[in-house]
Amino acid sequence: MSILTSASGASVWRGYEYYTMKRVVSLEKVGEDEYEGQVAGRGEEPYHVKINTAHIRRSRCNCPHADGTQKICKHMVALYFAAYPKEADKYIAEVEEYEREEQKCLEEHCAEVRSYVNSLSKKELQEELYRTLIEIEEMKNKYW
Ligand SMILES: [Zn+2]
Repeated sequence: MSILTSASGASVWRGYEYYTMKRVVSLEKVGEDEYEGQVAGRGEEPYHVKINTAHIRRSRCNCPHADGTQKICKHMVALYFAAYPKEADKYIAEVEEYEREEQKCLEEHCAEVRSYVNSLSKKELQEELYRTLIEIEEMKNKYW
């Protein structure tokens, strides 16, 4: 269990953005595995954030999302990245690697579809187009 694995994917991403946008306005090491600081949120007053990397559930933030709960919010993630910048570098490297893979996969898939379409005769294309249009119609009726 870590701050990053306990937070939702969206909170980690937003936390990373907060960190890179320098919204962590203060950071202090207050214990062996504890950090406290202030993270600017949407309002005028920054949130008070405390993270404990040994006991994740002792982490606190007074934002509406996390206050009074044991949820790990983006402010905690931002403070965590400020305390451990190497983890932020590791995280963004992983995100970029994932995106590259996705892009490659997409390109390969598109190339496959393109070569399939090119291999069809006019009659086959007409048939394929007809079926595709009908399918789109059906999907519209189903979801719209
Ligand atoms: Zn928060």
